Amino acid sequence: MVTIKSKREIAYMEEACKIVALTYQTLEKEIRAGMTTFELDQMAEQTMRKLGAIPAEKGYNPGIKGVPPFPATTCISINDEVIHGVPSKRRIIKEGDIVSVDTVALKNGFHGDAARTFIIGNVPKETQRLVDVTKQAFFEGIKFAKPGNRIGDISHAIGEYVHSQGFSVVQEFQGHGIGRDMHEDPGIPNSGKAGRGIRLEPGMTLAIEPMVIQGKPNILELEDGWTIVTEDGSMAAHYENTILITEKEPKILTIV
Ligand code: MG
Repeated sequence: MVTIKSKREIAYMEEACKIVALTYQTLEKEIRAGMTTFELDQMAEQTMRKLGAIPAEKGYNPGIKGVPPFPATTCISINDEVIHGVPSKRRIIKEGDIVSVDTVALKNGFHGDAARTFIIGNVPKETQRLVDVTKQAFFEGIKFAKPGNRIGDISHAIGEYVHSQGFSVVQEFQGHGIGRDMHEDPGIPNSGKAGRGIRLEPGMTLAIEPMVIQGKPNILELEDGWTIVTEDGSMAAHYENTILITEKEPKILTIV
């Protein structure tokens, strides 16, 4: 079900989303080569809790037999890992890595969700371009996030832009509505036909999240039941914000 948030609910969403934005401010400042993904995750958890939110990914149960609940505050996915990487004391962030972090804060019963890809030191030009295109794809998509347009208009804009830059989008995972639940309707694919899907209305809150691969779009799931990697081993990036549909331009809630 697609939910339309009341004024009060929007205020709660804004609060949760601001905490996500502030958490990323901390991570951006602190992330460096030599750190483990566990340490980075701890930093995110401490920041989020200090700001009064609950890390909503921690303990998240996918409801799939044999897959344990997610153990951490953040998903951390490095290089050819696309999404849902599990923080680990054995995984060290290295110079030249691209590190995608995805996290969700819960406050007053409402969720805020965003993802960023951090570049560690120097990377090849083409890797930098992948990260830039992934972020820009979000902004291309939200140009269409206005009342009267349809979800497919956003999907189409993201997919067309990414493909025009010579990269692939992930088909199997998508953006989503967000609110009292971390994942609400509608699903928001990162490619598709314009003019399809539900019409956008003021008060909808949506997590729009291009996941972009340098090579072929095919992905694989690792044995941990969580980590998604590119099949061809090429690099992947992720960028996400929670937005609010208003009467006019969309409001990005997870940027301060
Ligand atoms: Mg997310």
